[in-house]
Amino acid sequence: MKPLTGILSIIGGRRAILGLGSAYIILSVIWPFASIPRPTPLEEELIISVLIGGTGITLFYWSYRLPQTEIRPEFFDTVAIWCFRAIGVMVSILVVIALVAELNDPAHNFLILPALAAVAGTGAGRHDARAKTRTFTLKQRNRELQETQAELEETVARLEESEQRYRTLAENFPNGGVALLDDELRHTIVGGQGFESVDFVAADLQGEEVQEVYSGEILETIESHYRTTLAGEPTSFEVTMQGRVFEFRTHPLTDDDGDVYAILAMSQDITERKQYEEKLEQLVADLEESNERLEQFAYAASHDLQEPLRMVSTYLQLIERRYGDELDEEGEEFFEYAVDGAERMRSMIDGLLQYSRIETMGNEFEPVDLDVVFDDVCEDLRVTIEESGAEITTDRLPRVEGDENQLRQLFQNLLSNAIKYSGEEPPKIHVTAEQNGEEWIVSVIDQGIGIDSDNQEQIFEVFEGLHGDGDYVGTGIGLAVCERIVERHEGEIWVESEPGEGSTFSFTLPAVAGSGA
Ligand code: ADP
Repeated sequence: MKPLTGILSIIGGRRAILGLGSAYIILSVIWPFASIPRPTPLEEELIISVLIGGTGITLFYWSYRLPQTEIRPEFFDTVAIWCFRAIGVMVSILVVIALVAELNDPAHNFLILPALAAVAGTGAGRHDARAKTRTFTLKQRNRELQETQAELEETVARLEESEQRYRTLAENFPNGGVALLDDELRHTIVGGQGFESVDFVAADLQGEEVQEVYSGEILETIESHYRTTLAGEPTSFEVTMQGRVFEFRTHPLTDDDGDVYAILAMSQDITERKQYEEKLEQLVADLEESNERLEQFAYAASHDLQEPLRMVSTYLQLIERRYGDELDEEGEEFFEYAVDGAERMRSMIDGLLQYSRIETMGNEFEPVDLDVVFDDVCEDLRVTIEESGAEITTDRLPRVEGDENQLRQLFQNLLSNAIKYSGEEPPKIHVTAEQNGEEWIVSVIDQGIGIDSDNQEQIFEVFEGLHGDGDYVGTGIGLAVCERIVERHEGEIWVESEPGEGSTFSFTLPAVAGSGA
Protein backbone atom coordinates (compact mmCIF):
# COMPACT_ATOMS: atom_id res chain seq x y z
CA MET A 1 0.00 0.00 0.00
CA LYS A 2 3.01 2.35 0.08
CA PRO A 3 2.57 3.69 -3.49
CA LEU A 4 -1.05 4.44 -2.71
CA THR A 5 -0.05 6.37 0.44
CA GLY A 6 2.54 8.26 -1.58
CA ILE A 7 0.11 9.23 -4.33
CA LEU A 8 -2.51 10.26 -1.79
CA SER A 9 -0.09 12.42 0.12
CA ILE A 10 0.56 14.29 -3.16
CA ILE A 11 -3.04 14.62 -4.35
CA GLY A 12 -4.59 14.85 -0.88
CA GLY A 13 -7.06 12.23 0.44
CA ARG A 14 -10.09 14.44 0.23
CA ARG A 15 -9.35 15.53 -3.34
CA ALA A 16 -8.85 11.88 -4.39
CA ILE A 17 -12.29 10.83 -3.10
CA LEU A 18 -13.80 14.00 -4.57
CA GLY A 19 -12.22 13.07 -7.91
CA LEU A 20 -13.41 9.47 -7.66
CA GLY A 21 -16.98 10.62 -6.82
CA SER A 22 -16.93 13.05 -9.75
CA ALA A 23 -15.65 10.27 -12.06
CA TYR A 24 -18.49 7.97 -11.01
CA ILE A 25 -21.06 10.73 -11.57
CA ILE A 26 -19.73 11.44 -15.07
CA LEU A 27 -19.61 7.71 -15.81
CA SER A 28 -23.23 7.30 -14.67
CA VAL A 29 -24.31 10.01 -17.09
CA ILE A 30 -22.46 8.73 -20.13
CA TRP A 31 -22.88 4.96 -19.39
CA PRO A 32 -26.36 4.46 -20.95
CA PHE A 33 -25.20 6.19 -24.14
CA ALA A 34 -21.86 4.47 -24.49
CA SER A 35 -21.64 2.38 -27.64
CA ILE A 36 -20.68 -0.89 -25.94
CA PRO A 37 -22.35 -4.09 -27.20
CA ARG A 38 -24.94 -4.80 -24.47
CA PRO A 39 -26.47 -8.15 -23.60
CA THR A 40 -28.94 -6.45 -21.16
CA PRO A 41 -31.95 -4.30 -22.03
CA LEU A 42 -31.74 -0.48 -21.68
CA GLU A 43 -33.83 -0.37 -18.46
CA GLU A 44 -31.21 -2.45 -16.66
CA GLU A 45 -28.48 -0.21 -17.99
CA LEU A 46 -30.35 2.75 -16.51
CA ILE A 47 -30.57 1.04 -13.10
CA ILE A 48 -26.78 0.40 -13.26
CA SER A 49 -26.23 4.04 -14.18
CA VAL A 50 -28.36 5.15 -11.18
CA LEU A 51 -26.38 2.83 -8.85
CA ILE A 52 -23.05 4.23 -10.05
CA GLY A 53 -24.40 7.82 -9.93
CA GLY A 54 -25.61 7.27 -6.34
CA THR A 55 -22.18 5.94 -5.39
CA GLY A 56 -20.53 8.98 -7.04
CA ILE A 57 -22.84 11.44 -5.31
CA THR A 58 -22.27 9.74 -1.90
CA LEU A 59 -18.49 9.83 -2.32
CA PHE A 60 -18.64 13.42 -3.58
CA TYR A 61 -20.89 14.54 -0.70
CA TRP A 62 -18.85 12.78 2.01
CA SER A 63 -15.58 14.18 0.77
CA TYR A 64 -17.12 17.62 0.35
CA ARG A 65 -18.41 17.52 3.96
CA LEU A 66 -15.21 16.11 5.45
CA PRO A 67 -13.90 19.47 6.80
CA GLN A 68 -17.17 19.99 8.69
CA THR A 69 -16.76 16.71 10.57
CA GLU A 70 -14.66 16.24 13.69
CA ILE A 71 -12.01 14.45 11.57
CA ARG A 72 -8.72 16.33 11.54
CA PRO A 73 -7.37 17.18 7.99
CA GLU A 74 -4.27 15.03 8.50
CA PHE A 75 -6.57 11.97 8.68
CA PHE A 76 -8.41 12.67 5.37
CA ASP A 77 -5.82 10.39 3.74
CA THR A 78 -6.92 7.56 6.05
CA VAL A 79 -10.47 7.85 4.68
CA ALA A 80 -9.14 7.78 1.11
CA ILE A 81 -6.85 4.81 1.84
CA TRP A 82 -9.83 2.84 3.16
CA CYS A 83 -11.84 3.76 0.05
CA PHE A 84 -9.15 2.72 -2.45
CA ARG A 85 -8.21 -0.36 -0.43
CA ALA A 86 -11.86 -1.56 -0.57
CA ILE A 87 -11.88 -1.00 -4.34
CA GLY A 88 -8.60 -2.93 -4.60
CA VAL A 89 -9.89 -5.84 -2.50
CA MET A 90 -13.11 -5.99 -4.52
CA VAL A 91 -11.25 -5.92 -7.84
CA SER A 92 -8.90 -8.68 -6.62
CA ILE A 93 -11.86 -10.86 -5.64
CA LEU A 94 -13.47 -10.29 -9.02
CA VAL A 95 -10.22 -11.14 -10.82
CA VAL A 96 -9.91 -14.39 -8.83
CA ILE A 97 -13.55 -15.28 -9.60
CA ALA A 98 -12.97 -14.41 -13.27
CA LEU A 99 -9.97 -16.72 -13.38
CA VAL A 100 -11.52 -19.64 -11.48
CA ALA A 101 -15.04 -19.51 -12.90
CA GLU A 102 -16.50 -17.57 -15.73
CA LEU A 103 -17.98 -14.21 -14.94
CA ASN A 104 -21.22 -14.00 -16.87
CA ASP A 105 -21.21 -10.15 -16.86
CA PRO A 106 -17.66 -8.84 -16.24
CA ALA A 107 -18.34 -5.27 -17.39
CA HIS A 108 -21.20 -4.76 -14.94
CA ASN A 109 -19.46 -6.63 -12.12
CA PHE A 110 -16.26 -4.61 -12.41
CA LEU A 111 -18.26 -1.42 -12.61
CA ILE A 112 -20.81 -1.79 -9.80
CA LEU A 113 -19.11 -3.91 -7.17
CA PRO A 114 -15.89 -1.82 -6.77
CA ALA A 115 -18.10 1.28 -6.71
CA LEU A 116 -20.16 -0.12 -3.86
CA ALA A 117 -16.97 -1.34 -2.16
CA ALA A 118 -15.65 2.26 -2.43
CA VAL A 119 -18.69 3.55 -0.50
CA ALA A 120 -18.29 0.84 2.15
CA GLY A 121 -14.54 1.51 2.39
CA THR A 122 -15.05 5.28 2.68
CA GLY A 123 -17.61 4.68 5.47
CA ALA A 124 -15.15 2.48 7.35
CA GLY A 125 -12.39 5.00 6.65
CA ARG A 126 -14.47 7.77 8.16
CA HIS A 127 -14.88 5.73 11.34
CA ASP A 128 -11.17 4.93 11.43
CA ALA A 129 -10.23 8.59 10.81
CA ARG A 130 -12.65 9.67 13.53
CA ALA A 131 -11.08 7.19 15.96
CA LYS A 132 -7.62 8.38 15.01
CA THR A 133 -8.71 12.00 15.45
CA ARG A 134 -10.02 11.19 18.92
CA THR A 135 -6.82 9.35 19.85
CA PHE A 136 -4.82 12.29 18.54
CA THR A 137 -6.92 14.81 20.49
CA LEU A 138 -6.62 12.68 23.62
CA LYS A 139 -2.85 12.49 23.24
CA GLN A 140 -2.68 16.20 22.67
CA ARG A 141 -4.76 16.89 25.79
CA ASN A 142 -2.58 14.49 27.70
CA ARG A 143 0.51 16.36 26.57
CA GLU A 144 -1.04 19.69 27.55
CA LEU A 145 -1.97 18.24 30.91
CA GLN A 146 1.57 17.01 31.41
CA GLU A 147 2.92 20.44 30.48
CA THR A 148 0.50 22.14 32.89
CA GLN A 149 1.52 19.69 35.60
CA ALA A 150 5.21 20.40 34.96
CA GLU A 151 4.53 24.14 35.13
CA LEU A 152 2.60 23.68 38.35
CA GLU A 153 5.40 21.63 39.86
CA GLU A 154 7.89 24.32 38.85
CA THR A 155 5.70 27.05 40.37
CA VAL A 156 5.33 25.06 43.60
CA ALA A 157 9.10 24.53 43.72
CA ARG A 158 9.68 28.26 43.16
CA LEU A 159 7.16 29.17 45.84
CA GLU A 160 8.75 26.75 48.27
CA GLU A 161 12.14 28.21 47.50
CA SER A 162 10.96 31.79 47.96
CA GLU A 163 9.12 30.85 51.17
CA GLN A 164 12.32 29.19 52.36
CA ARG A 165 14.20 32.38 51.56
CA TYR A 166 11.67 34.44 53.53
CA ARG A 167 11.94 31.97 56.38
CA THR A 168 15.73 32.20 56.37
CA LEU A 169 15.49 35.98 56.33
CA ALA A 170 12.97 35.92 59.15
CA GLU A 171 14.98 33.43 61.21
CA ASN A 172 18.10 35.56 60.94
CA PHE A 173 16.36 38.81 61.81
CA PRO A 174 18.72 40.20 64.47
CA ASN A 175 17.86 41.31 67.98
CA GLY A 176 14.11 41.00 67.47
CA GLY A 177 11.37 39.24 65.59
CA VAL A 178 9.66 39.52 62.24
CA ALA A 179 6.26 38.13 61.31
CA LEU A 180 3.85 38.01 58.40
CA LEU A 181 0.19 38.00 59.42
CA ASP A 182 -2.78 37.33 57.16
CA ASP A 183 -5.92 39.48 57.12
CA GLU A 184 -7.29 37.56 60.12
CA LEU A 185 -4.13 38.47 62.07
CA ARG A 186 -2.85 34.90 62.00
CA HIS A 187 0.94 34.50 62.01
CA THR A 188 1.94 32.85 58.72
CA ILE A 189 5.71 33.27 58.98
CA VAL A 190 7.55 34.05 62.23
CA GLY A 191 11.27 34.25 62.90
CA GLY A 192 14.00 36.23 64.57
CA GLN A 193 16.80 36.05 67.06
CA GLY A 194 15.34 38.31 69.72
CA PHE A 195 12.97 35.80 71.23
CA GLU A 196 15.46 34.47 73.76
CA SER A 197 15.08 37.53 75.98
CA VAL A 198 11.36 36.75 76.43
CA ASP A 199 9.60 33.38 76.79
CA PHE A 200 8.53 33.18 73.14
CA VAL A 201 9.40 30.41 70.72
CA ALA A 202 9.05 31.54 67.12
CA ALA A 203 7.79 28.14 65.96
CA ASP A 204 4.99 28.23 68.56
CA LEU A 205 3.60 31.45 67.13
CA GLN A 206 3.35 29.95 63.65
CA GLY A 207 -0.33 29.62 62.67
CA GLU A 208 -1.55 31.32 65.86
CA GLU A 209 -3.86 34.31 65.82
CA VAL A 210 -2.69 37.43 67.60
CA GLN A 211 -5.34 36.92 70.34
CA GLU A 212 -3.88 33.49 71.09
CA VAL A 213 -0.37 34.88 71.54
CA TYR A 214 -0.81 38.05 73.62
CA SER A 215 -3.21 39.09 76.35
CA GLY A 216 -4.31 42.08 78.42
CA GLU A 217 -2.95 45.54 77.67
CA ILE A 218 -0.21 44.20 75.39
CA LEU A 219 -2.81 42.48 73.21
CA GLU A 220 -4.89 45.67 73.13
CA THR A 221 -1.93 47.77 71.96
CA ILE A 222 -0.64 45.27 69.42
CA GLU A 223 -4.05 44.34 68.01
CA SER A 224 -5.18 47.94 67.57
CA HIS A 225 -1.98 48.81 65.68
CA TYR A 226 -2.22 45.67 63.54
CA ARG A 227 -5.81 46.58 62.64
CA THR A 228 -4.71 50.09 61.70
CA THR A 229 -2.11 48.47 59.44
CA LEU A 230 -4.76 46.21 57.90
CA ALA A 231 -6.61 49.44 57.04
CA GLY A 232 -3.51 50.48 55.07
CA GLU A 233 -1.55 52.61 57.60
CA PRO A 234 1.99 51.69 58.68
CA THR A 235 2.50 52.08 62.43
CA SER A 236 5.27 52.12 64.99
CA PHE A 237 4.88 51.67 68.73
CA GLU A 238 6.59 50.36 71.84
CA VAL A 239 5.55 47.48 74.06
CA THR A 240 7.13 46.31 77.32
CA MET A 241 7.03 42.53 77.73
CA GLN A 242 8.60 40.63 80.60
CA GLY A 243 10.77 43.59 81.48
CA ARG A 244 12.10 44.08 77.96
CA VAL A 245 11.12 46.99 75.72
CA PHE A 246 10.25 46.16 72.11
CA GLU A 247 9.81 48.64 69.31
CA PHE A 248 7.25 47.40 66.78
CA ARG A 249 7.02 48.61 63.19
CA THR A 250 4.22 47.42 60.91
CA HIS A 251 3.67 47.69 57.15
CA PRO A 252 0.63 46.76 55.08
CA LEU A 253 1.26 44.39 52.15
CA THR A 254 -0.99 45.11 49.19
CA ASP A 255 -1.96 43.20 46.05
CA ASP A 256 -2.09 44.61 42.50
CA ASP A 257 -5.44 46.29 43.24
CA GLY A 258 -3.97 48.01 46.28
CA ASP A 259 -5.96 45.89 48.76
CA VAL A 260 -4.17 44.85 51.95
CA TYR A 261 -3.86 41.06 52.08
CA ALA A 262 -1.31 40.75 54.89
CA ILE A 263 0.85 42.78 57.23
CA LEU A 264 4.54 42.69 58.01
CA ALA A 265 5.40 43.27 61.66
CA MET A 266 8.95 43.76 62.93
CA SER A 267 9.90 44.08 66.57
CA GLN A 268 13.28 45.05 67.97
CA ASP A 269 14.48 44.63 71.52
CA ILE A 270 15.48 48.21 72.38
CA THR A 271 15.84 47.75 76.14
CA GLU A 272 19.56 48.60 76.22
CA ARG A 273 19.13 51.46 73.76
CA LYS A 274 16.32 52.85 75.90
CA GLN A 275 18.41 52.62 79.05
CA TYR A 276 21.28 54.30 77.24
CA GLU A 277 18.99 57.05 75.92
CA GLU A 278 17.57 57.63 79.41
CA LYS A 279 21.09 57.86 80.81
CA LEU A 280 22.07 60.27 78.07
CA GLU A 281 19.00 62.43 78.67
CA GLN A 282 19.80 62.46 82.38
CA LEU A 283 23.38 63.40 81.59
CA VAL A 284 22.32 66.25 79.30
CA ALA A 285 19.86 67.49 81.94
CA ASP A 286 22.60 67.30 84.62
CA LEU A 287 25.01 69.13 82.33
CA GLU A 288 22.48 71.83 81.52
CA GLU A 289 21.76 72.22 85.23
CA SER A 290 25.43 72.42 86.16
CA ASN A 291 26.05 74.85 83.30
CA GLU A 292 23.22 77.01 84.50
CA ARG A 293 24.57 76.86 88.07
CA LEU A 294 28.03 77.83 86.78
CA GLU A 295 26.60 80.77 84.87
CA GLN A 296 24.68 81.88 87.96
CA PHE A 297 27.82 81.44 90.02
CA ALA A 298 29.97 83.43 87.58
CA TYR A 299 27.35 86.14 87.45
CA ALA A 300 26.89 86.28 91.22
CA ALA A 301 30.63 86.09 91.90
CA SER A 302 31.52 88.83 89.43
CA HIS A 303 28.58 90.94 90.53
CA ASP A 304 29.43 90.58 94.25
CA LEU A 305 33.12 91.23 93.56
CA GLN A 306 32.27 94.65 92.14
CA GLU A 307 31.38 96.04 95.57
CA PRO A 308 34.65 95.22 97.43
CA LEU A 309 36.56 96.30 94.29
CA ARG A 310 34.77 99.62 94.34
CA MET A 311 35.84 99.93 98.02
CA VAL A 312 39.47 99.20 97.10
CA SER A 313 39.39 101.79 94.28
CA THR A 314 37.66 104.41 96.46
CA TYR A 315 40.16 103.97 99.32
CA LEU A 316 43.08 103.99 96.90
CA GLN A 317 41.84 107.33 95.58
CA LEU A 318 41.43 108.55 99.20
CA ILE A 319 44.98 107.48 100.08
CA GLU A 320 46.33 109.22 96.99
CA ARG A 321 44.49 112.43 97.86
CA ARG A 322 45.45 112.49 101.58
CA TYR A 323 48.89 110.87 101.64
CA GLY A 324 50.01 111.16 98.01
CA ASP A 325 52.56 113.85 98.85
CA GLU A 326 54.06 111.84 101.70
CA LEU A 327 54.95 108.83 99.52
CA ASP A 328 58.54 108.41 98.44
CA GLU A 329 59.42 107.19 94.91
CA GLU A 330 59.20 103.51 95.82
CA GLY A 331 55.90 104.11 97.65
CA GLU A 332 54.49 105.82 94.53
CA GLU A 333 55.59 102.84 92.39
CA PHE A 334 53.87 100.39 94.77
CA PHE A 335 50.83 102.61 94.78
CA GLU A 336 50.65 102.56 90.91
CA TYR A 337 50.85 98.76 90.93
CA ALA A 338 47.89 98.69 93.31
CA VAL A 339 45.86 101.06 91.07
CA ASP A 340 46.79 99.03 87.95
CA GLY A 341 45.79 95.80 89.70
CA ALA A 342 42.45 97.24 90.71
CA GLU A 343 41.87 98.49 87.14
CA ARG A 344 42.75 95.07 85.66
CA MET A 345 40.46 93.36 88.12
CA ARG A 346 37.61 95.69 87.13
CA SER A 347 38.09 94.81 83.44
CA MET A 348 38.15 91.13 84.28
CA ILE A 349 35.01 91.34 86.36
CA ASP A 350 33.26 93.31 83.60
CA GLY A 351 34.34 90.68 81.06
CA LEU A 352 33.17 87.84 83.28
CA LEU A 353 29.82 89.52 83.81
CA GLN A 354 29.46 90.01 80.07
CA TYR A 355 30.44 86.37 79.44
CA SER A 356 27.94 84.98 81.94
CA ARG A 357 25.10 87.03 80.47
CA ILE A 358 25.43 85.91 76.81
CA GLU A 359 22.92 83.04 77.05
CA THR A 360 20.57 84.57 79.57
CA MET A 361 20.51 88.24 78.64
CA GLY A 362 20.60 87.93 74.83
CA ASN A 363 17.98 89.49 72.54
CA GLU A 364 15.72 87.67 70.10
CA PHE A 365 17.27 86.96 66.70
CA GLU A 366 16.30 89.17 63.76
CA PRO A 367 17.79 89.96 60.35
CA VAL A 368 20.94 92.01 60.93
CA ASP A 369 22.86 93.90 58.26
CA LEU A 370 26.54 93.19 58.96
CA ASP A 371 27.60 96.19 56.83
CA VAL A 372 25.82 98.47 59.33
CA VAL A 373 27.31 96.57 62.31
CA PHE A 374 30.79 96.89 60.79
CA ASP A 375 30.40 100.67 60.23
CA ASP A 376 29.13 101.17 63.81
CA VAL A 377 32.07 99.24 65.29
CA CYS A 378 34.58 101.23 63.18
CA GLU A 379 32.95 104.39 64.50
CA ASP A 380 33.24 103.14 68.13
CA LEU A 381 36.91 102.24 67.52
CA ARG A 382 37.62 105.52 65.67
CA VAL A 383 40.15 106.81 68.21
CA THR A 384 42.03 103.47 68.37
CA ILE A 385 42.02 103.22 64.57
CA GLU A 386 43.34 106.73 64.15
CA GLU A 387 46.01 106.34 66.87
CA SER A 388 47.28 103.06 65.39
CA GLY A 389 46.97 104.20 61.77
CA ALA A 390 44.99 101.03 61.00
CA GLU A 391 43.66 100.41 57.50
CA ILE A 392 40.47 98.35 57.61
CA THR A 393 38.83 97.23 54.35
CA THR A 394 35.82 94.99 53.75
CA ASP A 395 33.89 93.11 51.08
CA ARG A 396 30.16 93.72 50.91
CA LEU A 397 28.88 92.02 54.06
CA PRO A 398 25.62 90.01 54.14
CA ARG A 399 22.49 90.13 56.24
CA VAL A 400 22.37 87.38 58.83
CA GLU A 401 19.95 86.14 61.46
CA GLY A 402 21.15 87.16 64.90
CA ASP A 403 21.34 89.37 68.00
CA GLU A 404 22.59 92.76 66.78
CA ASN A 405 24.20 93.83 70.08
CA GLN A 406 26.10 90.56 70.40
CA LEU A 407 27.23 90.68 66.76
CA ARG A 408 28.53 94.20 67.39
CA GLN A 409 30.43 92.86 70.42
CA LEU A 410 31.84 90.02 68.27
CA PHE A 411 33.15 92.39 65.57
CA GLN A 412 34.46 94.80 68.19
CA ASN A 413 36.48 92.12 69.99
CA LEU A 414 37.93 90.68 66.77
CA LEU A 415 38.78 94.06 65.18
CA SER A 416 40.32 95.47 68.38
CA ASN A 417 42.40 92.28 68.76
CA ALA A 418 43.53 92.60 65.10
CA ILE A 419 44.61 96.18 65.83
CA LYS A 420 46.13 95.30 69.22
CA TYR A 421 48.19 92.32 68.00
CA SER A 422 49.36 93.96 64.75
CA GLY A 423 53.05 94.19 65.70
CA GLU A 424 55.32 97.04 64.64
CA GLU A 425 53.64 97.99 61.36
CA PRO A 426 50.34 99.94 61.20
CA PRO A 427 47.56 97.31 61.19
CA LYS A 428 46.15 96.14 57.85
CA ILE A 429 42.87 94.34 58.29
CA HIS A 430 40.43 92.92 55.75
CA VAL A 431 36.97 91.48 56.42
CA THR A 432 35.41 88.97 53.97
CA ALA A 433 32.17 87.01 53.73
CA GLU A 434 31.42 83.85 51.79
CA GLN A 435 28.15 81.96 51.60
CA ASN A 436 28.15 78.25 52.45
CA GLY A 437 24.63 76.81 52.05
CA GLU A 438 22.41 78.09 54.82
CA GLU A 439 25.19 80.00 56.53
CA TRP A 440 27.81 82.69 55.98
CA ILE A 441 31.48 82.36 56.78
CA VAL A 442 32.84 85.75 57.89
CA SER A 443 36.61 86.18 58.27
CA VAL A 444 38.68 88.93 59.90
CA ILE A 445 42.16 88.79 58.33
CA ASP A 446 45.12 90.63 59.83
CA GLN A 447 48.86 90.74 59.06
CA GLY A 448 49.89 90.91 62.70
CA ILE A 449 52.06 88.87 65.05
CA GLY A 450 50.13 85.65 64.57
CA ILE A 451 49.59 82.76 67.00
CA ASP A 452 51.60 79.62 67.55
CA SER A 453 49.72 76.53 66.29
CA ASP A 454 49.97 74.94 69.79
CA ASN A 455 47.97 77.82 71.29
CA GLN A 456 45.32 78.25 68.63
CA GLU A 457 42.66 76.28 70.56
CA GLN A 458 43.49 77.56 74.01
CA ILE A 459 42.99 81.27 73.19
CA PHE A 460 39.20 80.75 73.14
CA GLU A 461 39.23 79.72 76.83
CA VAL A 462 38.38 82.22 79.59
CA PHE A 463 41.42 84.13 80.95
CA GLU A 464 43.75 82.53 78.38
CA GLY A 465 45.80 85.46 77.12
CA LEU A 466 49.08 84.61 75.38
CA HIS A 467 50.85 87.87 74.99
CA GLY A 468 50.17 89.28 78.47
CA ASP A 469 53.84 89.64 79.33
CA GLY A 470 53.79 93.42 79.38
CA ASP A 471 53.69 94.30 75.68
CA TYR A 472 49.97 93.71 75.43
CA VAL A 473 47.36 94.39 78.08
CA GLY A 474 44.32 92.18 78.06
CA THR A 475 41.95 90.17 80.22
CA GLY A 476 41.98 86.97 78.16
CA ILE A 477 38.20 86.96 77.96
CA GLY A 478 37.46 88.68 74.60
CA LEU A 479 37.72 85.53 72.41
CA ALA A 480 35.83 83.43 74.98
CA VAL A 481 32.98 85.96 74.65
CA CYS A 482 33.25 85.71 70.82
CA GLU A 483 32.99 81.91 70.97
CA ARG A 484 29.91 82.02 73.23
CA ILE A 485 28.22 84.56 70.96
CA VAL A 486 28.89 82.44 67.84
CA GLU A 487 27.74 79.28 69.64
CA ARG A 488 24.51 81.02 70.64
CA HIS A 489 24.05 81.62 66.89
CA GLU A 490 24.66 77.88 66.32
CA GLY A 491 27.85 78.65 64.47
CA GLU A 492 31.55 77.88 64.86
CA ILE A 493 34.61 80.04 65.30
CA TRP A 494 38.20 79.13 64.50
CA VAL A 495 41.55 80.66 63.75
CA GLU A 496 44.19 79.98 61.10
CA SER A 497 47.49 81.66 61.79
CA GLU A 498 51.20 81.72 61.06
CA PRO A 499 53.36 83.39 63.71
CA GLY A 500 54.80 86.58 62.16
CA GLU A 501 52.49 86.39 59.14
CA GLY A 502 49.10 87.20 60.56
CA SER A 503 45.87 85.56 61.70
CA THR A 504 42.50 84.88 60.14
CA PHE A 505 39.62 84.56 62.58
CA SER A 506 36.58 82.98 60.86
CA PHE A 507 33.10 82.34 62.18
CA THR A 508 29.78 81.14 60.76
CA LEU A 509 26.41 82.83 61.16
CA PRO A 510 22.98 81.72 59.90
CA ALA A 511 21.88 83.36 56.64
CA VAL A 512 18.54 85.15 56.64
CA ALA A 513 16.02 82.49 55.51
CA GLY A 514 15.22 82.81 51.80
CA SER A 515 17.62 85.75 51.32
CA GLY A 516 19.96 83.80 49.02
CA ALA A 517 22.72 86.30 49.72
P1 ADP B 1 42.90 89.49 75.41
O1 ADP B 1 42.14 90.36 76.30
O2 ADP B 1 44.13 88.92 76.04
O3 ADP B 1 43.16 90.08 74.08
P2 ADP B 1 41.36 87.60 74.01
O4 ADP B 1 40.51 86.52 74.50
O5 ADP B 1 40.74 88.62 73.14
O6 ADP B 1 41.99 88.24 75.27
O7 ADP B 1 42.57 86.96 73.26
C1 ADP B 1 43.23 85.85 73.81
C2 ADP B 1 44.62 85.78 73.26
O8 ADP B 1 44.62 85.43 71.90
C3 ADP B 1 45.33 87.09 73.31
O9 ADP B 1 45.99 87.26 74.54
C4 ADP B 1 46.33 86.96 72.18
O10 ADP B 1 47.49 86.32 72.66
C5 ADP B 1 45.66 86.06 71.21
N1 ADP B 1 45.07 86.81 70.08
C6 ADP B 1 43.81 87.24 69.95
N2 ADP B 1 43.63 87.87 68.76
C7 ADP B 1 44.83 87.84 68.12
C8 ADP B 1 45.29 88.32 66.86
N3 ADP B 1 44.50 88.95 65.99
N4 ADP B 1 46.59 88.11 66.55
C9 ADP B 1 47.41 87.46 67.40
N5 ADP B 1 47.05 87.00 68.61
C10 ADP B 1 45.76 87.17 68.98
